Amino acid sequence: MNLKDKNILVLGLAISGVSTAKALNKLGANVTITDMKTEEKLSSFIKQLENFNINYVLGSNDVDLENFDLIIKSPGIPLEIPIIKKAKQKEIEVITDIELAYRLSDNKMIAITGTNGKTTTTTLIGEIFKNAGNDCHVTGNIGVGILWEIVNADDQDVFIIEASSFQLENTNHFKPKVSIIINITPDHLNWHKTFENYVRAKKKIFANQDENDYTILNYDNTTVRELADEVNSNLIYFSTNTTLDKGVYIDGDYIVINDGSKTKKVMPFLDVGVPGKHNLENALASISAAWVMGVDLEVITKTLREFDGVEHRFKFVDCINGMNFYNDSKGTNPDSSIAAIEALDSPIVLIAGGMDKGSDFDEFIKSFNGKVKALVLLGETAEKIKNTAISNGFNNIYIVKNMKEAVQKSNEIGITGDNILLSPACASWDMYQNFEERGKDFVNAVKGLRRT
Ligand code: ADP
Repeated sequence: MNLKDKNILVLGLAISGVSTAKALNKLGANVTITDMKTEEKLSSFIKQLENFNINYVLGSNDVDLENFDLIIKSPGIPLEIPIIKKAKQKEIEVITDIELAYRLSDNKMIAITGTNGKTTTTTLIGEIFKNAGNDCHVTGNIGVGILWEIVNADDQDVFIIEASSFQLENTNHFKPKVSIIINITPDHLNWHKTFENYVRAKKKIFANQDENDYTILNYDNTTVRELADEVNSNLIYFSTNTTLDKGVYIDGDYIVINDGSKTKKVMPFLDVGVPGKHNLENALASISAAWVMGVDLEVITKTLREFDGVEHRFKFVDCINGMNFYNDSKGTNPDSSIAAIEALDSPIVLIAGGMDKGSDFDEFIKSFNGKVKALVLLGETAEKIKNTAISNGFNNIYIVKNMKEAVQKSNEIGITGDNILLSPACASWDMYQNFEERGKDFVNAVKGLRRT
């Protein structure tokens, strides 16, 4: 695909926008960036583009689309905004960066999506491939824009791509060698409008794959399992609770691979470094991908033993006053927090609440199942979660103003042997820039307990 002298609009200037603009510039395109945010707010991104020749329309999307050939949209931008509607009328194609990355390169791509577990699985697969001696790029929704990596990569480099539903929504030809769907449960319904739309976006990860490719699906997640009929490539299931005719599953104490004719042992599942059933799913998905790509089993097992997870995802912080504190700030929807609750022993003091994404908290409260002894709530959803809890018969609830108070309250009501878990089940944007900032605030508040 030749982009020389093409007029391309980058819609949205953040991590992926910077990477996209730099790549397009290198390829000789005329690049314009537009963002509703002001120059002042975007200064850190603009600084990264200092040495690149770029036109800016900032503080509005007031761009005359007349001469544009293509629009690369930042994934999170909603599809209903006027500039996208205008582009549609003018028949200007709007795509996301992973679509353009696919069109521009012949690199092998492994793409990972799912409601929860994307970053953990993407990171783990990246570690396996690095340990196998491959030059690989771990990119996408994980915080590394793909296009700058693509235009600077060697042909044989492997791309391991975390793909969000927002990124997949605006793809047309994207065709990874291996696609993975870890799970699908309702999330981001404020953006996708309906669960059907959300599933449709996720399915695009395998929509163009053929008999030379692999689609890896979670057998244990009904929505994902039932996508099998639409798969046109080699289907591999993984499961934590079912014996499969072909795929990766648990047999007794062992993780095994069944290639359709024979079964081989991989490793005892208890030797997987990251804790919890949810991380076992992520491990099985990663083993499946590495296996179909021909990675040595020894490398796979060594990596799985050593990998201890990603920051802010169910990470042990400290033991203070006999209580274990865990940071799961990335638990940003009810299902991810249910996974964390299931992975911990009782009694749990749970700190939850944050921005309202339109989630329903019934299943979340039901998952307490006698394990959660107290609920400490903060943020926009505090009242909503409280009401759901009370209607489910759970009444030991404390509403606090901020994280410091949440940690202090937990310390006050917890006793030796309790697990104190921050797993908000909500996004962070009502109180923080992002979930990382929320997680750090929690960790600092926990450390503060040592000083009191
Ligand atoms: P994502 O990138 O999809 O948001 P992460 O790997 O960052 O996923 O994990 C986010 C949160 O989701 C974690 O904090 C953990 O509580 C939960 N989680 C991780 N893997 C899974 C899984 N396979 N199923 C359910 N929940 C999970």
